[in-house]
Amino acid sequence: MENSQPRTEHPRITREKQTIQAMVHIYCKAHHGTHGELCPECTEFMEYAFMRLDKCPFQERKSTCGKCLIHCYRPDMKEKVKKVMRYSGPRMILHHPRLALHHVWDGRTKPPKLEKKTTS
Ligand SMILES: [Zn+2]
Repeated sequence: MENSQPRTEHPRITREKQTIQAMVHIYCKAHHGTHGELCPECTEFMEYAFMRLDKCPFQERKSTCGKCLIHCYRPDMKEKVKKVMRYSGPRMILHHPRLALHHVWDGRTKPPKLEKKTTS
């Protein structure tokens, strides 16, 4: 069964989390009038996104989620992430240029195919 040893988080995943967090904040502020804090709906979404990243089988090899072949988000969260990305994506350049550039760069990584390993 699965070994539940604590894994150190790869910087790639940490950065992905920072990116999604920044995007959700931009979105929430504009659409739900929050300042610095997220509304309950956006908090739930962000926790969900973080959880998906923790469980992402690709980890440091992952591309950006938009290009991933797995599309692991459940349907309602997928709708939400599309809205958030569409709104906040272009604004990231202004608010978080460093993260935005990284995100573009990471998006150039080809999404890996999931390898079925029969030996361990
Ligand atoms: Zn919100």
